[in-house]
Amino acid sequence: MTAITAASKDLASCHLCYKLAPATEHHCPRCGSTMHLRKTASIQRTLALLITASILYIPANVLPIMITDQLGSAEPSTILGGVVLLIELGSAPIAAIIFIASVMVPLSKLFALFYLCWCVEKQAKTSNQQNTAMFRMAEFVGKWSMIDVFVVAILVALVNLGGLMAIRPGTAALAFAGVVIVTMVAAESFDPRLMWDQTEENNE
Ligand SMILES: [Zn+2]
Repeated sequence: MTAITAASKDLASCHLCYKLAPATEHHCPRCGSTMHLRKTASIQRTLALLITASILYIPANVLPIMITDQLGSAEPSTILGGVVLLIELGSAPIAAIIFIASVMVPLSKLFALFYLCWCVEKQAKTSNQQNTAMFRMAEFVGKWSMIDVFVVAILVALVNLGGLMAIRPGTAALAFAGVVIVTMVAAESFDPRLMWDQTEENNE
């Protein structure tokens, strides 16, 4: 049985007010915003942003995220270096939070989105329910990866013991913020409906 979809009736929904209108009209009859049947060049845009995020992920991990100035000597530390240091200092729970938020979450989000693009592009026979759940998870979990930038920001504000000790954010903090923002935009430009379009085609 083939279900009737808006797309099969040549109807597109407005991105802003969700009104259904003929796809041949370029502007929404209600609010006037531009209308598309699907997000334009969704896979290409998502892939381009994912590649950018992957490249930014390298300086985010290699360069120091935080520089500690102590008695005149500056000590830079990377994300992983900070995690190891926290474990050595006996703060394993905080180390775990930082590791999950700044290593596991961004990487799993990148892999999940790459995988979804691959599934759509290769028309892979995968479960759409599962893939949709994965997409929602990637969208939800992504916001928590910014925690790392907050940790540095809070430390910078808190630890400022005169000339004795100071903490400065390193270049990696900027690269890391870039990774988080670019993957957020990548998730936004991915159109999950593309996964279901395939299923509709296969059913016909
Ligand atoms: Zn509209």
